Amino acid sequence: MSSNSQRSFKVYKIDNGTVIDHINSSMALKIIDILEIKKDGIVSIGMNFDSAVTGKKDIIKIENVHLDKKHTDMIAIFSPQATINIIKDSEVVEKRQVEVPKVINKVLRCPNPTCVTNKYHDCDSKFIVEHYDENQTYGRCYYCERETLITPDLVK
Ligand SMILES: [Zn+2]
Repeated sequence: MSSNSQRSFKVYKIDNGTVIDHINSSMALKIIDILEIKKDGIVSIGMNFDSAVTGKKDIIKIENVHLDKKHTDMIAIFSPQATINIIKDSEVVEKRQVEVPKVINKVLRCPNPTCVTNKYHDCDSKFIVEHYDENQTYGRCYYCERETLITPDLVK
């Protein structure tokens, strides 16, 4: 038995919920943040599994929550190769890829200190995704129009 399969047992199996696989290594906690998952359900996180796709990968399992495409596409900002499995009655009822969203609302802060979204707490951030590839996503702030490379430290 390889060390990897031994570790696999440590990720809690779920009969109902959402499994996010092939997350870029060490991005799991940031992805929990941007998904704004209610913290009352069981969320299990596996980090640093061996992956043929990305080298190392993280896995998130969220019990009793079926995330819709609008939510799971947010994952693509930091893990464009992530895959989504929706589980019901122990069966995978839907498999989904993630796509980088055209607009990213609320979850990021604008790096421009004079931006209106940093001055007023009731003004939510909004970024328009201008271009991206498998490693990087660039967004333009809707308010101050500054373009920025979207990095994990911009997550609020
Ligand atoms: Zn801005």
